[in-house]
Amino acid sequence: MINLILFGPPGSGKGTQAARLTEKYDLLHISTGDLFRYEMGNNTPLGQEAKSYIEKGELVPDSVTIGMLRNKVEANPDVAGYIFDGFPRTVAQAEALDVLLGERKEEVTALLSLEVDDEEIVKRILERGKTSGRPDDNDESIIRNRIEVYNSETAPVFDYYDKKGKSQKIDGIGSIEEIFDRLCTAIDKEI
Ligand code: ADP
Repeated sequence: MINLILFGPPGSGKGTQAARLTEKYDLLHISTGDLFRYEMGNNTPLGQEAKSYIEKGELVPDSVTIGMLRNKVEANPDVAGYIFDGFPRTVAQAEALDVLLGERKEEVTALLSLEVDDEEIVKRILERGKTSGRPDDNDESIIRNRIEVYNSETAPVFDYYDKKGKSQKIDGIGSIEEIFDRLCTAIDKEI
């Protein structure tokens, strides 16, 4: 199996690139952000709980996120591999992912981190907010909070996998095609 973590700050292009990588490598794309938006759209209890955090640009508690991720993986066991997008976002989530994959004698193949500077991120997310319909994309102070949460809680996940020799930085500035090529080059070295 190929189990990739597509990593990077909000607005770094993970969703765009994951869609392309999924097609090329025949993987299942699991985006926790998309899963939460689906639950919120259907106004489920899980969606209602997630909404209160997402609206403020905070992380949904690990117990909720890890449970949702586990359900999604367990519902799709017969795939060539997974692209995790927006997960893990804390070290506790990374440990839970390792346990989950370990249960089936699998492991994370690589973590690819899209590197984009803060000002570019704010610009991109505000632009995306014009069409995304996401309340968390339309308020600069919420966006800046998301970046802060990324730096304090999520960035350590890079180091966690770096210690295992699995983390790689990918320049996230350029055309969609250029960045896709950089990601493919990195993946092809791992498989
Ligand atoms: P972004 O474009 O900011 O990367 P996502 O679509 O991945 O956004 O996620 C949107 C929001 O959903 C996040 O700001 C966070 O509140 C919540 N969320 C998504 N994934 C996780 C996670 N792994 N752990 C906790 N909260 C999450």
